[in-house]
Amino acid sequence: MPAPAPGDTPKFGEALRSKIPVSRWADLDLVVDLGAQVGSRTWWRGALTCAVLCGSTFLLAPSVEAIPAMVEPMEETQWDEARAQAITPLAFGGDTGRRMAATDAVEPLAGTPERPRIELTATLGRGDGFDRVLQRAGVAPDEATELAAMISDAVPMDDIRPGTIMNIVLGRRPNRTVPRPVDEIAFRARFDLKLEVARVDGALRLNQIAIAVDDTPLRIRGRVGSSLYRSARAAGAPPAAIQAYLRAIGTRMSVNRDIGADATFDMIVEHRRAETGETEIGRLVYAGIERGERETQLLRWSVGGDDQWFEASGVGQQTGQMLMPVNGRLTSGFGYRRHPILGYRRMHTGLDIAAGRGTPIRAAASGTVNFSGRNRGYGNYVRISHGSGIQTAYAHMSRIVASNGSRVSQGQIIGYVGSTGMSTGPHLHYELIRNGRKVDPRSVSFTRQARLTGRELQRFRTTLANLLEVEPGAALARREEREEAEVASNNRRIERARS
Ligand SMILES: [Zn+2]
Repeated sequence: MPAPAPGDTPKFGEALRSKIPVSRWADLDLVVDLGAQVGSRTWWRGALTCAVLCGSTFLLAPSVEAIPAMVEPMEETQWDEARAQAITPLAFGGDTGRRMAATDAVEPLAGTPERPRIELTATLGRGDGFDRVLQRAGVAPDEATELAAMISDAVPMDDIRPGTIMNIVLGRRPNRTVPRPVDEIAFRARFDLKLEVARVDGALRLNQIAIAVDDTPLRIRGRVGSSLYRSARAAGAPPAAIQAYLRAIGTRMSVNRDIGADATFDMIVEHRRAETGETEIGRLVYAGIERGERETQLLRWSVGGDDQWFEASGVGQQTGQMLMPVNGRLTSGFGYRRHPILGYRRMHTGLDIAAGRGTPIRAAASGTVNFSGRNRGYGNYVRISHGSGIQTAYAHMSRIVASNGSRVSQGQIIGYVGSTGMSTGPHLHYELIRNGRKVDPRSVSFTRQARLTGRELQRFRTTLANLLEVEPGAALARREEREEAEVASNNRRIERARS
């Protein structure tokens, strides 16, 4: 039987269509593009078809029901068995495997035992209170207050440095609801004092242990060489002391120009060494330089609360460079000018410095306020007497800070720029008065030199002589001796171990 030619067998659709009589259904397209021809008859038919299909799908869909996993709840023993073999997350109390029942040997505990004592350290912060430190460490408020009172009786709180570390031992407590009692506290209250608080027969006792301190000052001498700083560092001087030394010497000479390589520097620094080994380096107290025959000796000396470098003869350094009281623009100098308000030529007796309202005004030099308040056309006005017949005056302030009779130091704020009195805008009118006459503040270089006399000069000379008796390196000598002794004993130990 010959295979039928491809054209002989009609396709299924064609066959079907050929059976259906040609009618108006012939071109019926059930799949309508709902995006095109929106609103037309075809579109509505397509939309209806879609709705009918979706509706019938929804109606015919089976409902979702939970399938019961366990028909009967387990007995308790069964549940234990099942649980013993199941793997449960620990969070849900997983305990796989069979468990032994507790025997008589097991004693149930009401609670876990506490450590009998706790050792901890606490640090005293800046502006911190002793009782607060203790309370942070867990001490009861009452006991902390008692301890703080006990300690501040022995040492003023201000003497104890911030950053001091305390070793605290807290003891056993009767139950967990109360804080632990303090058993011991020990700390270095001062460089030369150790404090220990211990509980003896239930009561706290304070024990003060003095630490011997050798306060021989540290003297360092040496040749200047190519660099004073490097030579002094090499000789063991602390950097801060060298800087202070250079500043001190700089008040009398130019360090770069006047000091040659052959000069000998000599500095004495406050130095304290505790027997426990710690050292403390303080301020530079003496600065000397020997340049051949010429020798300069400077001793730090306090006059009226101000530290200054005095020469061996008792002459202090020159002071009194005045500073401008306000940062601002100079709008009017000293001399004759046409007055901005009065309109005629008139002497202008000071400097006008324009600055914003509220700019701080600083004392040009230290002195005593001898006028503070309203002064006619000057408005709010302050006058400061600097001694040696020199005064400075500040006018038109918006607010005065310095009160009459008070001492002010150079740079201290005495008021704020304003426009009170006869003034056209915020500015400072600044005057300098020498022996009652107003002079140009810019023309005066105002210097003063302190000079020690009488008993103070005696004390000064004694102090200087005592200092100069200190041998260079004496402060370190004993430490070196001790270190040498340590090395020697170590060597002996090693030798004994070898033999
Ligand atoms: Zn003026």
